[in-house]
Amino acid sequence: MTEYCKRGYLLVSEIGEKPSEERLRQKKVAFIECPQEIPCNACVHSCKFDAVLMDNINAPPKMDYDACTGCMRCIRVCPGLAIFMLEIKDDMGRVTMPYEFLPVPEKGETVKLLNREGKEVGEGTVTWVLPPERNEGTALVTVEMNKDLIYEVRAFRVV
Ligand code: SF4
Ligand code: SF4
Repeated sequence: MTEYCKRGYLLVSEIGEKPSEERLRQKKVAFIECPQEIPCNACVHSCKFDAVLMDNINAPPKMDYDACTGCMRCIRVCPGLAIFMLEIKDDMGRVTMPYEFLPVPEKGETVKLLNREGKEVGEGTVTWVLPPERNEGTALVTVEMNKDLIYEVRAFRVV
C-alpha cells in the first residue's frame, strides 16, 4: 500500500505538477489530486477543451493547464471530490472546493481554513457558493485566502 493510502491524504510534495503562478493569475484552473489507478474517467469526458488527459481508463488524470478554461465542468462530475479550482486574484489565493457538510456557508462569510491533515491554518472568506441542490447534492465553495495556502488548504469549517 502506498504511503498516502496509509496516511489518508496527500502531502503537498506528492500532488504532482502545479500550474505556474502566471497561469494562476490569468484565470482559475482545475487542479486534480487523483493519483490512484482507478477505473474512472468522468473528468476526461466532462472536459470539452481536452485539458484533462489520461493514457487509459485506469491511469491517473493529467492536466494541460494552458488548455483549461476554468469552466468547472470537471469539478462538478468528479465522484472522488478530487478536483479543486485554483486562482490568484488581486494577490489573494482562491480555492474552490467540493463541500458536503451542513450548514453550507454564504458568500461573505468567514470560515476556518483546514489543511490536508484537518488542522486549522487560518481564516478565509467565502466568495462564491454553488448550493448542493444545484449540483447533485455536493456544494461547491470558493474561499479566498493567503495565496501561499492554496496547495495546503483542502477543507474549511464554518464558524
Ligand atoms: S475546468 Fe473546464 S476546461 Fe478546465 S479541466 Fe475542468 S472541464 Fe476542462
Ligand atoms: S473524475 Fe475524479 S475520481 Fe475520476 S479520474 Fe477524474 S479526478 Fe479521478
